[in-house]
Amino acid sequence: MCNAIVIGGGQSGLAAAHALRTQGLRPVVLEAGAEPVGSWPHYYDSLTLFSPARFSAFPDVPFPGDPDHYPHRDEVVDYLRRYARTLDADIRTHHRVSTVTADNGAYTVHTEHGEALQTNILIAATGGFSQPHWPELPGLNKFAGTILHASDYRNPEPFAGQRVLVVGAGNSAVQIAVELAEHAHTTITSRTPLRYASPTLLGRDLHWWTATTRLDVLPLGPWLRTVPTTPVSDKGAYKAAIEAGNPDHRPLFEHLNTTEVTWSDGTREHIDAVILATGYRPDLTYLQPLGALDSTGSPRHRRGLSRTCPGLGYVGLEWQTSFSSATLRGVHRDAHYVVKQLVKAVRTHKHCCIPTPV
Ligand code: FAD
Repeated sequence: MCNAIVIGGGQSGLAAAHALRTQGLRPVVLEAGAEPVGSWPHYYDSLTLFSPARFSAFPDVPFPGDPDHYPHRDEVVDYLRRYARTLDADIRTHHRVSTVTADNGAYTVHTEHGEALQTNILIAATGGFSQPHWPELPGLNKFAGTILHASDYRNPEPFAGQRVLVVGAGNSAVQIAVELAEHAHTTITSRTPLRYASPTLLGRDLHWWTATTRLDVLPLGPWLRTVPTTPVSDKGAYKAAIEAGNPDHRPLFEHLNTTEVTWSDGTREHIDAVILATGYRPDLTYLQPLGALDSTGSPRHRRGLSRTCPGLGYVGLEWQTSFSSATLRGVHRDAHYVVKQLVKAVRTHKHCCIPTPV
């Protein structure tokens, strides 16, 4: 019987492992990939954080370099790699969890390789962004050119000289479209208008304001998730490029056919590629046998604690508690809350099999 099992070894899994260590437990972290660095190596090449280093670090482990710089994707990978080494946790890479069952008051976690591990405390930390969202768009299934989700976009090179549509209105859509526009004839197209927000206010980064006003810690998740789109974080360059038409922005097209797009004014033109920057959903299908998910596959939870399965918690869900829940700066706070509640509940009830702290 394991002390605790964490599924997923990205920032959420590492934060959960850290919180479990502070409760005296030594968790097993099961990570599908080769390293405990989450999805960061798979994000596009030019990605830099929207939060400065000082607001992107985990407690007690500062981010290297100027605290006010916006770290590149690869710096985050290095940071998480180093952070994982500081944890005295049993991190097992190349361990993909296929399913979880409940037997005699404990959970059995089954891996793809046929291992079965038991625990009373289980944390699902496989991220809120593990499943690229492919929306239904008119004619998309007929389009014969290149279609890819932003999760598979790396850099503009393969699109040089092409006619490209980027679908979406969020940070990824705008960042990808603006960098593509230097190499390809690019249009960003979306159902909703583009909205921008400066990353600074009165000379201070917005993260400073949210931390100082404690807006960051308010449990506004359920309310905020009704806000239609998060504005694009922009120092002015993205808005200026789009207003200059490079890329241009157009309301969502009427439909696609094999090679062409038809716009709302009836005009048609040839298109080579469509990039869907249309967001992500969590993929928690391994919890299906527990009855932990609703009919849409979303977890039934309150602030990261399963409503249906005692001893099961989540870390890293979007809007789990606050708008920073699924970010580097917010995930530790949620992890500590979830772990504290789970450990308390399991120790209070007699189905507890947690050994004394190690
Ligand atoms: P992930 O990084 O996705 O890690 C989940 C881990 O679980 C992976 O390593 C995966 O291999 C593993 N896993 C999945 N399924 C299984 C399984 N069945 N068994 C075992 N292991 C499994 N946040 C910020 O703070 N700042 C930013 O600037 C920022 N930019 C972002 C840009 C993009 C394009 C995206 C998509 C997100 C961004 N985020 C940002 C949000 C968030 O911080 C990242 O998505 C981050 O990677 C989430 O970490 P995570 O650990 O929750 O999930």
